[in-house]
Amino acid sequence: MPPDRYAVLGHPVAHSQSPFIHAAFAAQTGEPIVYERVLAPLDAFAATVRAFAESGGRGCNVTVPFKFDALALATQASARARQAGAANVLRFDSDGWWADNTDGIGLVRDIEQGAGVALAGRRVLLVGAGGAGAGVLGPLLQAAPAALHLANRTPERALALAARHAALAAEHRVPLAAGGLEDVPGAFDVVVNASASSLEGGAVPVHARCLAPGALAVDLMYGPAAEPFLAWARQAGAVARDGLGMLVEQAAEAFFVWRGRRPLTAPVLAALRARVEGKA
Ligand code: NAP
Repeated sequence: MPPDRYAVLGHPVAHSQSPFIHAAFAAQTGEPIVYERVLAPLDAFAATVRAFAESGGRGCNVTVPFKFDALALATQASARARQAGAANVLRFDSDGWWADNTDGIGLVRDIEQGAGVALAGRRVLLVGAGGAGAGVLGPLLQAAPAALHLANRTPERALALAARHAALAAEHRVPLAAGGLEDVPGAFDVVVNASASSLEGGAVPVHARCLAPGALAVDLMYGPAAEPFLAWARQAGAVARDGLGMLVEQAAEAFFVWRGRRPLTAPVLAALRARVEGKA
């Protein structure tokens, strides 16, 4: 039997490390899969997903800028994808398509297990209200921080995303506030840059006074593009972490959605870091 086919669809997609990660998961677990990159034209995302499914694809990851569109393609979705209003995983079942969002659990696992920082009781600043921000806000609230502030370049987007999470925040007794980048109140124990500032080569989007002493500062970006943010964080006395750990954790959860197997992430992260840093 030929291996089952999966892919990452995005625009751009050439930079994606997902094929390397899923090949490592397949080798580790013995699951018979192959995983490729598919460039989806900006005006033909749905047609590209359908063509991949019709040619035998079993599921796909979805990346920038299609995560909001991906949810609309599915007949059913997980609670976390519905809460986010966005999906990064599709599974093509015989009775319909299933959408999920594994970005948030990937980030929370990387912070709590990878960086060893428990979120409960910490003050968290989340920067960015795009596809990534939408995916991680719910799981961050479920980790029961002392408070969560959401900041975005376009404040209205932050306010709207916070409003759709108000009930979840209340359920977990987390004070949730939102606004622009200039008026972030106070200092935070954990700062997550889920904006595309690093991807776009832009300035660090918030002031260093947002970092409490010894804070953890995470940029969802990785590689050379994340370096300015990481250097900024270190200079301010924070512990800096890039997005590679989250990338591997969200991929492991997607692998579980597709194959029902949870691969070990630590060895794959180590191999990926060596590859990205040019040591392998
Ligand atoms: P997106 O949907 O295009 O949203 C972009 C977000 O960044 C918006 O909130 C936007 O603000 C903000 N933004 C863009 N340029 C900015 C700048 N120069 N300064 C401040 N804010 C800026 O993209 P996304 O899907 O959320 O992805 C965001 C980043 O996360 C990307 O770098 C992506 O590669 C990364 N990511 C990493 C992982 C991982 O596993 N490590 C997973 C998902 C995403 P406005 O609303 O004002 O436009």
